[in-house]
Amino acid sequence: MYKAPRGTQDILPPEQSYWCFVSQKAQEICQLYGYKRIETPMFEEAGLFQRGIGEGTDIVEKEMYTFQDHGGDLMTLRPEGTASVCRAYIENGMSNLPQPVRLYYMADIFRYERPQAGRYRQHHQFGCEAIGDSDSALDVEIIELIWRFYASLGLENLTLQLNSIGCPICRPDYVRELSEYYSQFSNVLCPNCKTRLARNTLRLLDCKEESCRKIAHDAPKIAERLCSDCDTNFQQVKHFLGEIAIPFQINPFLVRGLDYYTRTVFEIIPQEEGAQTALGGGGRYDLLIEQLGGKPVPAIGFAAGMERIILNLNKQGIAVPLIPEPKVYVAHADEEGKAQAVKLIAALRQAGIGAMLATGSRSLKAQLKKANAIGATEAVILGGDELKRGTVVLRNMAEGKQEEIPLGEVAKRLQGYGVGYDRNNECGTL
Ligand code: AMP
Repeated sequence: MYKAPRGTQDILPPEQSYWCFVSQKAQEICQLYGYKRIETPMFEEAGLFQRGIGEGTDIVEKEMYTFQDHGGDLMTLRPEGTASVCRAYIENGMSNLPQPVRLYYMADIFRYERPQAGRYRQHHQFGCEAIGDSDSALDVEIIELIWRFYASLGLENLTLQLNSIGCPICRPDYVRELSEYYSQFSNVLCPNCKTRLARNTLRLLDCKEESCRKIAHDAPKIAERLCSDCDTNFQQVKHFLGEIAIPFQINPFLVRGLDYYTRTVFEIIPQEEGAQTALGGGGRYDLLIEQLGGKPVPAIGFAAGMERIILNLNKQGIAVPLIPEPKVYVAHADEEGKAQAVKLIAALRQAGIGAMLATGSRSLKAQLKKANAIGATEAVILGGDELKRGTVVLRNMAEGKQEEIPLGEVAKRLQGYGVGYDRNNECGTL
């Protein structure tokens, strides 16, 4: 028997109402803030991610699904959304549009990770990118957008963590200082951090190993060593967040896992969880577009993991609107009834009434049982003497009450079952 590959999952019909709800809310909030949708290919040249995300990162070193295609080119299934959006910005000359260009995407993401709850090898991200402006008001717009997005879903008890990781002017001195600090502990660091010390020193700060966390605690803090431009940006971001009453915590250990970030970085974390289960995160990446061959263009963005959102909606017991299903079942008592049923149901659907037809030649009793099983509230029964009289039986499934009505009046009687009839009334949880 074949199984879905490890770390992947089927998203089955009962879960679709969650996906529909979350993506609808994402689209609504993007419209409100003026972000326009972009879709990029699911795979790109491997070099885009190697350059963009950075050679020393976990994603590039261990997690990419890279393959050689039949033409001999090296391709990678996208392990994040930002590099592709930046490639599209450059390739499509978007620097000629009014700046900043505000874009959003919903994309499958592929990372060869160790699967666990909330961590998969294929997952989905909703992300926004605001490209072409270094104004700290834009940092705050992006943070506000993701914060309001979670709020619009009804999620509560979330914490916004914030840090600034400087720029090429202030960061190299800081990284040197950090290296010197960590060198004293090089033989007690976890094996991962021993490698990071040489290749990706900033990442030492967010190691989750208890012994490494203790060492990180007393490490020099970058936010205290920012150059004056980065410091001004950080102060303004904090000030503006205060002005719009978005609460935040400064987390000096927050550095994010990708090389391209500069200045503002942030993550949103469910309060009851450990730091490993971020619902979403992002930051400024002022050098990435130039690094990928474009003009020097500053930018900021975030990505929110859809599976983790849905996990948290369930944990918090948040009900979502169900996707409407047909509530009318059309049954038949004999062959002539079936022929008329096919005609009637086509007319009902043309009138926008959701309906399902009994198939096969089961007894009327079996058909009505099926109508119950699929949750139909009305059944129309065609055939026998009624049909000869030009009438049908209309049965209310909940009450079991039946009445005989003219065939020509069925659509009018069932008008209330038009598409979208219960969109706002019915709610459910998984
Ligand atoms: P990142 O850019 O790695 O911070 O990812 C952005 C968001 O995507 C995270 O905050 C998570 O919500 C989600 N995410 C990242 N990796 C995974 C994964 N392997 N499985 C499920 N969700 C993920």
